[in-house]
Amino acid sequence: MSSEPNCVFCRIIRGEIPATIVHRGDACLAFLDIQPLAPGHTLVVPTPHYPTLDGMPGELVGEVASVLPRLGSALIRVTGATGFNVLINNGPDAGQVVPHLHIHLIPRSAGDGLGFRWNVRGYQPGEADRLAESLRRALAGG
Ligand code: 5GP
Ligand code: ZN
Repeated sequence: MSSEPNCVFCRIIRGEIPATIVHRGDACLAFLDIQPLAPGHTLVVPTPHYPTLDGMPGELVGEVASVLPRLGSALIRVTGATGFNVLINNGPDAGQVVPHLHIHLIPRSAGDGLGFRWNVRGYQPGEADRLAESLRRALAGG
């Protein structure tokens, strides 16, 4: 199993630095974020070191993600939140700071003041069809 000597999340997985563990699975570890956006803000990380989602085997992604429904339900029951965001910052330009893939579970409630800038842009005529066709071809090619 791959593990990086200096990766902060690998070090948490190896027990070299402390973390507030919430769940230990065969393929993942879930622990509280050290700088939470809300009480209960949890990070779910695959046990093997993968920097980003697009480099991971789909089966492993499935195993890691399979904990999310139970973990999300527990967060709602325990924190009193009424919802949660599931977020991956994938790559530095998407806001990823720690280069070991992690899924944020962020408890939410009405009026909590959290949110994203969601600056929508439209498509030019035909642009969406061309893009989807390119994506279908890319997916078919592996
Ligand atoms: P990113 O921006 O990479 O998606 O988020 C990294 C997250 O990891 C941040 O929310 C940050 O607070 C959290 N984090 C960074 N270092 C540690 C640590 O040593 N322990 C814990 N529990 N969380 C950390
Ligand atoms: Zn790592």
